[in-house]
Amino acid sequence: MSLNRRDFIKIMGGTTAAVAFPGVMIQGCKKALEKAAERTNIIWLEGQSCSGCSVSLLNKLNPDIVSVITEHISLNYQGVVMGGTGSAATRVLEEAVKKQRKDFILLVEGSIPTKSDIYCTLGEDEKSHRAIGVREWVEELGKNAIAIVSIGTCAAYGGIPAANNRLTNVNPTGAVSVQELFKGKKNVLNIPGCPPHPDWMVGTLLHLLLKGMPKLDEFNRPVMYYGKTVHEKCERLSYYKKGIFAKEWGDRGCLYELGCLGMDTGCDIPVRKWNNGAGSCTDCGSGCIGCTEKVFPEFGRRGIYQRLHADNTTGVNSSRVPGKKVSGGVING
Ligand code: SF4
Ligand code: SF4
Repeated sequence: MSLNRRDFIKIMGGTTAAVAFPGVMIQGCKKALEKAAERTNIIWLEGQSCSGCSVSLLNKLNPDIVSVITEHISLNYQGVVMGGTGSAATRVLEEAVKKQRKDFILLVEGSIPTKSDIYCTLGEDEKSHRAIGVREWVEELGKNAIAIVSIGTCAAYGGIPAANNRLTNVNPTGAVSVQELFKGKKNVLNIPGCPPHPDWMVGTLLHLLLKGMPKLDEFNRPVMYYGKTVHEKCERLSYYKKGIFAKEWGDRGCLYELGCLGMDTGCDIPVRKWNNGAGSCTDCGSGCIGCTEKVFPEFGRRGIYQRLHADNTTGVNSSRVPGKKVSGGVING
């Protein structure tokens, strides 16, 4: 499947982004992409993450991920989808470090442990059998990469793996974001989200390939995806304006009183939608949990997490009518 003009505009963020591209580039985007792919390679490393960002990328339907990988980018290394394993796979990384390659974009999913490399290793030195930490790969490859793209909230800000233990108030692995590893480096950008929408990932890559660094906001996020709040484009905004607020999950109305964080969150999901246009967080009634913001999940002190407080012994959500005993316990309480 080729990337036609409509697909291209769609993943580049609709009208705003399309305006940023010269018409001739949109018309000839397939050709331009192929040309760009001839010289631009992608290396995707995974640190402390749940692989949800990789899975989200695989849900790319329009254009489908197979055509993106086989036609538009040259994916040298990606732990979840690549066929190679073991030393044959990590040799790609070794070669890139040894030859000081400068012809690739580095994508990083997950946070980086700094207390010890043993918390997240990726392959080993063939001669000494020393386990190599993901931190080392990221630091080495990041030195020469054209751009370093943090994929998902864990890579962008630390996310859930950087949360503190409730008893000790310390993070056990010393997890940090990618930008903390590369303080002051100008070519680091963030695609946060738990997970990020596949369009945000592929669209940012295409922007880098075709036009260089996209315009970023104060959190190094592309403005074309994160520049407006969820609230501004929300399907329930008319309820908010009329003062109709949902009191219980499933009610008609704006979800603000249930903890929706749409007003504080930059994200275009109400217009872009998930699962190829099937629905959005606010439209489906779950509300926005602010997953693209630096403070997420903030130990359950904000928004929906503040209101969803399950009883430790019954597992029943204490802010709702009591139900049968369920397993679970405290939700961010
Ligand atoms: S549901 Fe959330 S994002 Fe939508 S109008 Fe209400 S507060 Fe704003
Ligand atoms: S609407 Fe909110 S919860 Fe949904 S993806 Fe965007 S930031 Fe995350």
